[in-house]
Amino acid sequence: MSVACATAPAPGAVLYVSGPYRVWVRRTVLAKAQRLARVRAPLETGGLLLGQVVDGEAHVLALTGPGRRARRSRLGYESDGARDTRLVARVYPQLHYLGDWHTHPGGPAVLSATDVASIRGALSPSRPEVLHLLLAGPADMGDAVASLFTLVCGESAARRMTPEVAA
Ligand SMILES: [Zn+2]
Repeated sequence: MSVACATAPAPGAVLYVSGPYRVWVRRTVLAKAQRLARVRAPLETGGLLLGQVVDGEAHVLALTGPGRRARRSRLGYESDGARDTRLVARVYPQLHYLGDWHTHPGGPAVLSATDVASIRGALSPSRPEVLHLLLAGPADMGDAVASLFTLVCGESAARRMTPEVAA
């Protein structure tokens, strides 16, 4: 699989920026998240963000839905980590884990303290940055807003990234 050069605009992708951090998210990935969010509403759902890092820029190329054993409720989303790991190895062997996503049906477009603590759990010396995509909207998630965050080792707050390019 070829990935667009970091200096060329990635077709069909949205560029998100925060300080030195640049992340491309495929429009098909955003559309799939919106679709899965509506299917599960009014319960929360989520999954993994997968892709590649090219010249320091992350490219989110695929997104997975919840496993059968993931717990979905109005209180939160908890992934099925073992299933997720198997899925990535089997279906997306060329892609890497870049982060997670989840939804807030009828909730705010901000990460809760619980969300941030959970996301921080994925940080490690070998993985000093993780992405998080949050979809928030009405209870039926009919018109959800997508927000992208980067969490960085050593930074107390999650960075909310700004979409820069509508390619
Ligand atoms: Zn949340």
